[in-house]
Amino acid sequence: MIVTIDGPAGSGKSTAARGLSQRLGFEFLDTGAMYRCVALAVVQQNVDPADEQAVASVSQQIQITFSDAKVLLDGEDVSLEIRTPEVTEAASLVAQYPAVREELVHLQRQAAADIDIVSEGRDQGTVVFPDAFCKFFLVADPEERARRRQDELQAQGKDVTCEEILQQIYERDQRDEQRIVAPLKPADDAVEINTSTLTIDEVLDQLEQIVRTRINSVAH
Ligand code: C5P
Repeated sequence: MIVTIDGPAGSGKSTAARGLSQRLGFEFLDTGAMYRCVALAVVQQNVDPADEQAVASVSQQIQITFSDAKVLLDGEDVSLEIRTPEVTEAASLVAQYPAVREELVHLQRQAAADIDIVSEGRDQGTVVFPDAFCKFFLVADPEERARRRQDELQAQGKDVTCEEILQQIYERDQRDEQRIVAPLKPADDAVEINTSTLTIDEVLDQLEQIVRTRINSVAH
């Protein structure tokens, strides 16, 4: 059974997807981390992120794996390295390339084959798993999303103003929404939830209740 959670940066989908997978006893797939791994490899190998062919070839050569809560790139734990502002920016660039997406979509479908999973990203409900059992699209006001990102960065000892973060979020959203392949948008059958004024537990309660109600209605 596949549950998808899509939405823009800072909408709370990673925390929600992880929490929901725990509540349901499902696996969890962070597809953004996969684009971040491609971006990190591109940065490490000094490949120009604007060189589509070279980036595509990097994406075909690397190995991305998940182990417990860790993200491994060619066997090395890169969970922290993939969260730097440089890699974040590069991830949203490399995610525009069809050949990169094709490669990662293939891996995502493989990862979800024959298991129960909550998969989060931008295109999980629209492109990767169009027949998913339950689809969610999380949104939040830009100011709230910037505030959450600022909290995250501060926890890593980085001081960035809310205005700077808002600008970065705006640019990333634009790129994700306007790209030709798999743009960020809700699937027609996705349940949209605005998380701006909700606590994480309130979000999880809503998500869990919707999934369980659907499971029960299928069972009867
Ligand atoms: O979700 P996260 O911020 O980690 O994603 C990093 C980048 O990867 C996003 O800015 C987006 O451009 C890209 N992405 C994507 N499709 C996904 C997941 C992430 O294009 N399914």
